[in-house]
Amino acid sequence: MIFTGGCQCGAVRYTVEVDALVGYACHCRECQKQSASAFGMSVPVREEDFVLTGETLVWSRPTDSGGITDCHFCPKCGSRVFHSGRGGRAWITVKGGSFDELGAIPLVANIWVKRKASWIDLPEGLPQWETQPQSLEEWKDLLGWAA
Ligand SMILES: [Zn+2]
Ligand SMILES: [Zn+2]
Repeated sequence: MIFTGGCQCGAVRYTVEVDALVGYACHCRECQKQSASAFGMSVPVREEDFVLTGETLVWSRPTDSGGITDCHFCPKCGSRVFHSGRGGRAWITVKGGSFDELGAIPLVANIWVKRKASWIDLPEGLPQWETQPQSLEEWKDLLGWAA
């Protein structure tokens, strides 16, 4: 399948050609601030499968685990498009709402639900974690990450 997306103004566009993608919602304060909404949605994509056109600017922030996340956004409209780590990590997370057809990407988990807005009801049966995923194996399984 070919997934496409981009920023709000269209100056930054991307294509991802893979069999399938999945996403997860994060209700932490960083994601609420980042999205200026109730939660952030992340879609993990292998860096090598991500083809970007247009320039992004980067704002970096430290993570809980002691690393640094580079947050890429459109210099014209300010939309956050994707996040990448450092140290040769092979995966980036693309911001869910930037995809042209978000409905084609199933949601597989909610994380940081202890911070979620009280008026959001999470679906029964979908994996959720109070904070970060506690089971790395289950997490990798959900996202389709090879160990
Ligand atoms: Zn833009
Ligand atoms: Zn978050």
